[in-house]
Amino acid sequence: MNTLLAAPPAAKGHLIRVSGLVQGVGFRPTVWRVATAMGLTGHVRNDAAGVEIALWCIDAELAAFRQRLCDGCPPLARIDAIETTDLEGLPPADGFTIVASAGGAVRTGVVPDAACCAECLAEILAPRDRRYFYPFANCTHCGPRLSIIEAIPYDRSSTSMKSFVMCEACRAEYENPAERRFHAQPIACPNCGPRIWLEAEDGSVFAGGSERVIDEAAALIRAGRILAVKGIGGFHLACVATDDDAVMRLRSRKKRDGKPFALMGRDLR
Ligand SMILES: [Zn+2]
Ligand SMILES: [Zn+2]
Repeated sequence: MNTLLAAPPAAKGHLIRVSGLVQGVGFRPTVWRVATAMGLTGHVRNDAAGVEIALWCIDAELAAFRQRLCDGCPPLARIDAIETTDLEGLPPADGFTIVASAGGAVRTGVVPDAACCAECLAEILAPRDRRYFYPFANCTHCGPRLSIIEAIPYDRSSTSMKSFVMCEACRAEYENPAERRFHAQPIACPNCGPRIWLEAEDGSVFAGGSERVIDEAAALIRAGRILAVKGIGGFHLACVATDDDAVMRLRSRKKRDGKPFALMGRDLR
């Protein structure tokens, strides 16, 4: 039997614009992974409106790509719209890449800070992990965003983390697409990131690493002292909620006679 084979459809250039909460949440790495897994060429970058993807593929692949992108949307991301237009020019020779951000009028949303994810928490509690007891551990699924952003597009150079130079180990994670910290802008570790310390009222500094500092801070709170915990967004004043004396002292110092304080707990129980 004779079979007539039609010429395979030619790959065309597509410009895909994704808007929503797509910066600083591991969106570009997700695009990279999907495109690379499908063997497509092009690039992805942040721009002021969100994320811009240039992709060379046939129409069927474009539909599949969009579907896989929506299915694989990272936990902190939210896709509001995907717009596709034709793109002239030839596909790049070097596969699919993440390229430098473009400027322009800012229209994209910014993600709020997110609590430590389960994977980062597991690392913080693993004695052999290099982020053991490191309170500033974060990844593309968690950590600070809005509190550290100085400008959009969201790149490390536009955040308050720009003054911390990544160590070799962090840079390797940052540059490895298979890593949870691929392009995680606030990436940090005890060797290169912010550190914690504990100071008394007289300015004397408690000696010890993260683990001892946190233990000592917890012991002080348990003993009824009031701590000013400096975080990325300012100071939290903290005391033990079950100690009336400590709470009353905090109320009088804050001049807050009746207004409720926020309560922190491990879980609802
Ligand atoms: Zn995390
Ligand atoms: Zn580091």
